[in-house]
Amino acid sequence: MMNPNNNSEFNAIREGVQALCAEFDAAYWRKVDEEKGFPEAFVKALTDAGWLAAMIPTEYGGSGLGLAEASIILEEVNRCGGNSGTVHGQMYNMFTLLRHGSEEQKSFYLPKIAAGELRLQSMAVTEPTTGTDTTKIKTTAVKQGDKYVINGQKVWISRVQHSDLMILLARTTALAEVKRKSEGMSIFLVDLREAIGNGLTVQPIANMVNHETNELFFDNLELPASSLIGEEGKGFKYILDGLNAERTLIAAECIGDGRWFIEKASQYAREREVFGRPIGQNQGVQFPIAEAHIEVEAADLMRWRACEEYDSGINAGASANMAKYLAAKASWEAANACMQTHGGFGFACEYDIERKFRETRLYQVAPISTNLILSYVSEHLLDLPRSF
Ligand SMILES: Cc1cc2nc3c(=O)[nH]c(=O)nc-3n(C[C@H](O)[C@H](O)[C@H](O)COP(=O)(O)OP(=O)(O)OC[C@H]3O[C@@H](n4cnc5c(N)ncnc54)[C@H](O)[C@@H]3O)c2cc1C
Repeated sequence: MMNPNNNSEFNAIREGVQALCAEFDAAYWRKVDEEKGFPEAFVKALTDAGWLAAMIPTEYGGSGLGLAEASIILEEVNRCGGNSGTVHGQMYNMFTLLRHGSEEQKSFYLPKIAAGELRLQSMAVTEPTTGTDTTKIKTTAVKQGDKYVINGQKVWISRVQHSDLMILLARTTALAEVKRKSEGMSIFLVDLREAIGNGLTVQPIANMVNHETNELFFDNLELPASSLIGEEGKGFKYILDGLNAERTLIAAECIGDGRWFIEKASQYAREREVFGRPIGQNQGVQFPIAEAHIEVEAADLMRWRACEEYDSGINAGASANMAKYLAAKASWEAANACMQTHGGFGFACEYDIERKFRETRLYQVAPISTNLILSYVSEHLLDLPRSF
């Protein structure tokens, strides 16, 4: 890959996203956060400008760009002080449809998603009793004639109230009846506009971040058989397929956060005077910021490696996981350095640091927790014994 920091196409994307984000300043995001609202105007503007259709192939009305370009879009949103957690679902949920959907499904849905007529922002995998142990999910999809009947429960399912479509993972064959625990799960494209109130109940979860997320209860929800994506029983494989892209995109968001924190911290350290000199003159203040900068830049190198592998069709599993690990850790360290540099003012909402601090903390847990990445590296890269 050309030096990504000296690439005119990439720079043009950065500038385009920055120009859009300039219309949604810190006061906008602060108000949305205070009201626990949804940044509808921002999401609409990003959609209308075509940024959320970046990875949809041109024949379906998108821009046909790669993961590298998509990652810049989300990075810049966070670097400008926004929260791409409000929109990132569409970038990676679309992969499942694109890679495994039938031609009929793709030609029906993708142009509508690209045009902003439909949103595919939600994916329902996590369940309250199984957590990270996904193959034990208990939500079932039972085929009855030309439909599937869904029963079960999901938790932490984001953006359901602002999405038209949702990818759902459910068991179509009982765990006891499959040879491998990863078999027997299937994915469905749920039309939320029809499902909510007709077998699907949505219960919002109040949480630390202004992240719209929910518990879902399925009680004999009927889906047309045509909503199955790909082959029955192969859903877990399909979901895993999209995760490398998801992890790389989240890494880019964390890099955007990290750079935002470092810029804020450096600026404040230059300007704030205590004991008759700028606080940034003290190495005790400089060093944590410098350390965070080094770590964000190192994480960025791994992010570009992941993008390059993914976009050239090479298995990006190792680099995507490591990029997500490094970037989430670096952005959290940058958040701490920024908070500490601001002293008491870091806690004042009008500085936006406490909001971004909460937002970036999420990425050590979701969409995959740090421990699970360490477990992946131990088992798959270092050939250590499997622990679960
Ligand atoms: C705001 C938010 C939004 C989310 N959005 C979505 C969404 O849209 N769709 C969706 O499907 N899910 C979503 N999630 C769920 C998220 O992916 C899970 O929370 C995450 O994968 C961890 O699962 P868990 O919470 O069940 O933790 P658990 O699996 O219960 O794990 C708890 C802790 O134990 C650790 N742990 C567990 N097992 C091991 C082990 N074997 N070795 C070492 N450590 C271990 C984990 O690392 C973790 O730190 C969201 C979560 C949040 C908080």
